[in-house]
Amino acid sequence: MSSAFSSYSKIVDPSGRLNFGGKAILHASGVEFGNGVTFNINMDDLQLLDELGRGNYGTVRKVRHTRTKVEMAMKEIRLELDDPKLKAIITELDILHRATAPQIVEFYGAFFIEGCVYYCMEYMNPGSLDKLYYGEGSVPEDVLARIANNMVKGLRFLKDKLNIIHRDVKPTNVLVNRKGEIKLCDFGVSGQLEKSLAKTNIGCQSYMAPERIKGESQNNLATYTVASDVWSLGLSIVELTKGGYPYPPETYSNVFAQLQAIVHGDPPTLPLEYSETAKDFVARCLEKVPGRRATYSELLEHQFLRDDVMRGDLVDMAAWVERSLAERSKMKEDAQVKTPV
Ligand code: ATP
Ligand code: MG
Repeated sequence: MSSAFSSYSKIVDPSGRLNFGGKAILHASGVEFGNGVTFNINMDDLQLLDELGRGNYGTVRKVRHTRTKVEMAMKEIRLELDDPKLKAIITELDILHRATAPQIVEFYGAFFIEGCVYYCMEYMNPGSLDKLYYGEGSVPEDVLARIANNMVKGLRFLKDKLNIIHRDVKPTNVLVNRKGEIKLCDFGVSGQLEKSLAKTNIGCQSYMAPERIKGESQNNLATYTVASDVWSLGLSIVELTKGGYPYPPETYSNVFAQLQAIVHGDPPTLPLEYSETAKDFVARCLEKVPGRRATYSELLEHQFLRDDVMRGDLVDMAAWVERSLAERSKMKEDAQVKTPV
């Protein structure tokens, strides 16, 4: 083990494995949890394929597990190795392996190599929701309701069954596959990493609720409750209908003005063409005062989601995915024709 580990002797045992009070052991070929569950995936078993995207903390790549031929998404998170962060990560990995629900992306395992945690999860093709919208009104109302319903169910599962708040609800953390299934990710390892206004570029596209922005600016981090995720859910839904982030950076002179608009301005609304029911649903999520915001139970009772349940199989999510992908690639081609290289 390199000297970088020497100051962590409390948690690194002589074999170089990281031991977390008997709760879990993280090593280069997997994670063993205190309850006897083991995940053994290691880099030698993986064939690296395309890059799927990049976030603030690292890269997500498509990989193939060579022995089983299973394709997975592998997220690399670079870390400064310190005790609290590693502890948070272990806690999150433990949560991830217990989190199985239809609206949650499946976790396959994780391993640790020199300052990076790699975690492997279900590969969702085409990927996150931001890859699918193509302008205002491009997501029809029945599809919108199905997405909202799955998001609410996923968030409620995390809260009720695992007692966790997601903390990073946004379109890039809601994944879609060719079947049109909608699943949440990143409530785990990366979700727990500190995200403060000062440290990241979070100000440019913040999904944080007004009370959180106020709390962070006053160094009061205790403002986070489940209601803050409901705000981020509402903002994500508006983004889908507008085809872009609801507080467009180009309309503000600086990030401060943009954050001021979130804290003091009127909340964003759905475009005119959506129904009053859909508009009301979003308004219930985007109440400025957290105490007035709808709870998950209230949202599930809302007519917008009741209508979705009634529609059942009539909503062809798979067809919507194909249509959106075709539109997006057409847009890309048009842009290339306009600006030849
Ligand atoms: P942040 O770093 O603020 O969380 P982010 O969510 O965009 O931003 P990452 O979580 O690193 O960053 O993800 C990068 C991209 O990889 C996502 O935008 C998404 O499109 C893609 N991606 C992530 N997980 C998967 C997955 N399981 N299957 C397919 N694509 C994925
Ligand atoms: Mg993400």
